[in-house]
Amino acid sequence: MVVEVTIMQKQVTIIGSGIVGAVTAYYLSADPTLSVTLYDEGIGQATKNAAGIIFPWLSKRRNKRWYQLAKAGAALYPEIVADTQMGYSVYQQAGTVVTRENPDDLQALYDLALERRKTAPQMGNVEKLSAAEVQDKIPLLTAPQPGVFVSGGARVDGDKFAHNLLKYAEKRNLVRHKGKVRLGDQGQLLTVNGQQAYDTLILAVGAWLKPLLLPMKIVADVRPQKGQLIEMQLPETWGDDVPVLMPEGERDFIPFTRNKLVVGATHENDQGYDLQASDLVENDLFASGYKLDSRLRKDQITQVKVGTRAYTRDFAPFFGPLPDNPHILVASGLGSSGLTTGPMIGKLLADYVRTGKHDWDNYQLPVENYLTPAD
Ligand SMILES: Cc1cc2nc3c(=O)[nH]c(=O)nc-3n(C[C@H](O)[C@H](O)[C@H](O)COP(=O)(O)OP(=O)(O)OC[C@H]3O[C@@H](n4cnc5c(N)ncnc54)[C@H](O)[C@@H]3O)c2cc1C
Repeated sequence: MVVEVTIMQKQVTIIGSGIVGAVTAYYLSADPTLSVTLYDEGIGQATKNAAGIIFPWLSKRRNKRWYQLAKAGAALYPEIVADTQMGYSVYQQAGTVVTRENPDDLQALYDLALERRKTAPQMGNVEKLSAAEVQDKIPLLTAPQPGVFVSGGARVDGDKFAHNLLKYAEKRNLVRHKGKVRLGDQGQLLTVNGQQAYDTLILAVGAWLKPLLLPMKIVADVRPQKGQLIEMQLPETWGDDVPVLMPEGERDFIPFTRNKLVVGATHENDQGYDLQASDLVENDLFASGYKLDSRLRKDQITQVKVGTRAYTRDFAPFFGPLPDNPHILVASGLGSSGLTTGPMIGKLLADYVRTGKHDWDNYQLPVENYLTPAD
């Protein structure tokens, strides 16, 4: 006699397919006791429109928790990329050059890099370079400056990275739906197909957490920030090993594989959820790139990308269960470094769903700091 045993799968539903939703789905897909569903309306996503610089170590930010989170996120990329066999066009540790004109500033930056490397071995080699040596590494430059090179710096195509993780998860236990969801006052999940049940709901909705939580009478301290960058297609091609440039006083300059150059990005706090590309900003971004490579031409711009970041009053991300509802988890406020912190946040959320335990004090203030009851 064959006895069939039915194992009740736990239903985990994720809203949002940016870096947080995608990484969470990826880790949860390793667990056959879970059934995972993801909804996304796909508008304004920051992850798709990001510059892709993974370089937290020389940040001037004083928030130690943020630094631990960003450091851990940067360290997670090589692991995920190797496990899922993503190629150089998605993620590459080609290094990062940070330039400083003044010799004292350059020395201070170099000393800081050596100091930070003591607790961040993934930084790899740290070198002080002359302007000529910087140009050797980044042949595109016509006006190089001296700088510090850190070999562990990376660039990632956020769109491809998240897409690949979701495809990977779909081969296991993930089912995806398109469309906007809403919440009822008790946290009911309302989709285009009606109300859906869940055991755990993960709101990885970036800049849209505040409107989503309002029906539950919770105010999230999350504000939208518009970000724009330009993508250019250049006539010459280059190898996979050209580093990212973070020039002093100019926009970042990111040579992706072959002949795609990205220059960006802006941080516009007064534009709400606007997704219109602006000619003024396009000109400004181009002018910044042109100062570094005077051979650039405007007609090489292939697109202006616009995304909406989420930021909080202290510019720190937050994540975890709602104070009064352990079945609903949130993550938001990743700001301008969300591709760096996002992988670690996704992993921590997935670990929590699977174990019911967390120890996040090293990485963030309690979520209560960012969620308050509405009057
Ligand atoms: C121009 C620009 C440049 C950047 N450059 C960098 C960089 O170089 N390095 C770095 O580390 N970070 C960078 N960032 C920041 C980074 O991209 C973000 O912090 C990060 O991607 C946020 O990820 P997320 O998953 O929280 O949100 P998102 O990627 O915004 O994803 C949220 C998703 O949820 C969906 N959603 C929202 N509400 C609903 C709803 N009600 N129903 C269904 N779906 C919903 C949205 O449509 C969206 O697809 C940049 C961002 C921008 C805009």
